[in-house]
Amino acid sequence: MPEALVNPPTEQKAIIVALAGNPNSGKTTVFNALTKLRQKVGNYSGVTVEKKLGRIIYADNREIDVLDLPGTYSLDVRSPDEKVARDVLLGQMRNTPRPDIVICVVDATNLERNLYLFSQIQDLGLPVIIYLNMMDEVEKQGKKIDVIKLSQSLHAPVIEGVAIHGKGIEELKNMISLAIAPADRRLWRMPEQVESRIEQLMILLWREEGMAKSDTFSEAIILLSKEERVLKEMLKGRPKVIDCVRGIQTDLTEWGINWRSVAIESRYDWLSKVLKGVVLEKSGKKEITVTDRIDAIVTHKIWGWLIFFGLMALMFYSIFTFATIPMDWIDSFFSLLSGWVKQWMPPGDVRDLVTGGVIAGVGAVVIFLPQILILFFFIGLLQDTGYMARAAFIMDRLMSKAGLHGKSFIPMLSSFACAIPGVMAARAIESPKDRLTTILVAPLMSCSARLPVYTIIIAVLIPGAIAWQKAGIMLGLYLAGIIGAFAMAWVFKKTLLRSETPVFIMELPPYRWPPFKDVMLHMWERALIFLRRAGTVIFALSIILWGLMTYPKHDHLDPGEALKHSFAGQAGLLIEPVIKPLGFDWRVGIGLIGSFAAREVFVSTMNIVFNIENEGEGDHLREAFQNATWPDGRALFTPLSCISLMIFFVFAMQCISTVAVVRRETNSWKWPLFQIFYMTGLAYVISLLVYQGGLLLGFH
Ligand code: GDP
Ligand code: MG
Repeated sequence: MPEALVNPPTEQKAIIVALAGNPNSGKTTVFNALTKLRQKVGNYSGVTVEKKLGRIIYADNREIDVLDLPGTYSLDVRSPDEKVARDVLLGQMRNTPRPDIVICVVDATNLERNLYLFSQIQDLGLPVIIYLNMMDEVEKQGKKIDVIKLSQSLHAPVIEGVAIHGKGIEELKNMISLAIAPADRRLWRMPEQVESRIEQLMILLWREEGMAKSDTFSEAIILLSKEERVLKEMLKGRPKVIDCVRGIQTDLTEWGINWRSVAIESRYDWLSKVLKGVVLEKSGKKEITVTDRIDAIVTHKIWGWLIFFGLMALMFYSIFTFATIPMDWIDSFFSLLSGWVKQWMPPGDVRDLVTGGVIAGVGAVVIFLPQILILFFFIGLLQDTGYMARAAFIMDRLMSKAGLHGKSFIPMLSSFACAIPGVMAARAIESPKDRLTTILVAPLMSCSARLPVYTIIIAVLIPGAIAWQKAGIMLGLYLAGIIGAFAMAWVFKKTLLRSETPVFIMELPPYRWPPFKDVMLHMWERALIFLRRAGTVIFALSIILWGLMTYPKHDHLDPGEALKHSFAGQAGLLIEPVIKPLGFDWRVGIGLIGSFAAREVFVSTMNIVFNIENEGEGDHLREAFQNATWPDGRALFTPLSCISLMIFFVFAMQCISTVAVVRRETNSWKWPLFQIFYMTGLAYVISLLVYQGGLLLGFH
């Protein structure tokens, strides 16, 4: 795109500063310190990447706009965040003027990886100021950084700072007005043959494609690293450029140079030379911090796993013990409510709808609120202390065996709460195939909507179970989901989505005392989401399902028979032959049909089914389950059919909202449909094997 169109020159153009940096380098902290509360948050046009704009006001009333770019490790445009950052820096983002100056926020405890991004920004020809953040951490590690040497080697001003304490912010503000463009010379070089071939591509981009000369180098090396298929997508209608790039790639291959990585490697080679002698150990030997000591145990090959499973078990144990009392309260509340409605409303369909449909349906789900809150309390706590990063670290060893990137762990972890944020978090994965693999397997992780289903079935399975037994079964179900996710990822990576296993560099942040306020806030948000869902989706589905279970009416029949002849009953009977081999009858079938909209609807549907059957005599769902029989008098919920049912819920894709999000994230119906098909197929086959295998072995 010709530059002139994007940035029309104006008389007195306001200066714009962009903040760039790796995720977690402290960008937002710097942004807040610079702008105080003068901020606006929006989205970049056309993409769901957050755009934050703020304003610095100087003592003499001068004003400068600051743009907080998305956090990225590079500008290689492999993820939407990287593309946005790059487009903004090149002035190619609609409604966003090109920045005049860039502040690169650098985590000083991890110079090499952070300066990689800096170097890429410098290649774009923009003046860059380095804000060397986290100097307090460097100090704690007993290290020193030779800032003058660093600044000289990088041809850029370097300011030491501790953003959380506002240190270095004033210097930064002053430096902005002094920053100038660097000399028009790149500081690092690739092997000479590569340089001269790249130059040809740059000339083509400049002379014939009208690109600004200063932008051509960084464009050229990005193109060089792309596979043919990606090139064709990026360069639609520009066959000349494609041919030129392909030509260079062929030559490089012939010379034994890897065109995918030559630029990355050369840049890192240069950086490691620059950094030699820049980071100094202050006191002969490195101080061993508390974090180091904890990490030695927590990431240990054996202890690490024991601690991980121990924490998970503790989490489920708490869910089963601490939640019981508030759950009883909620239960009593809904019983009271139902009794009150029965007293005050005249008998009839409307009253039945309110008590048997709405209150029974919504109440059956809301009762799980305490458990869900405890789940989120633990997840928040583990995340905010820094433990989750360690869990990701030990998981990475396992994930790479499945051919997955350690980065996939975060989306999969989020899926323990809900697959929707999980699927969205997969955006951070650069490789399209790895991203897709992650999206496909993320919903196999047991989400919080499965919790109510598991809980109720576990209660039927072992009526008198103590909390540790329940926690053990729960842990097993979660493990089954995790193993399923890994196994399927492995299968996909070997077949449909073949690609190399990427290397993963992960840093472990220091442990922190969890900010209690944040954990509470997180729980509160989750509670609201859960209640909103109960008040809308579950509410509506309960009414619909109640209707389907009540009509057409057969008042002359007893309630159980009438249910059988209702629309829902007929549908349940229709699928009964298919689910009977798994140990389920038509009533469970009704629940399963409803659960494909949202899993927790299973619990509310079952509540309605048994409420109707018992004429609202308020049997508890667990007791109703225990008393339910097949027509021949055999118990319906045997240990084996309970296990089969739980297994089905572990693997089946039962969530309309997730389907919608996967469609949005993959931009097609193909993948969500495939996902429904493979997950539900998997659920069916495994439940079938468990149930039939169990029968053969003499269980019941
Ligand atoms: P961003 O992802 O780049 O926007 O990073 P944030 O501004 O959210 O900071 C990430 C974390 O680093 C937060 O927990 C900050 O409190 C912390 N942090 C930011 N600056 C410093 C610093 O100078 N020293 C230390 N120790 N922590 C910092
Ligand atoms: Mg941030």
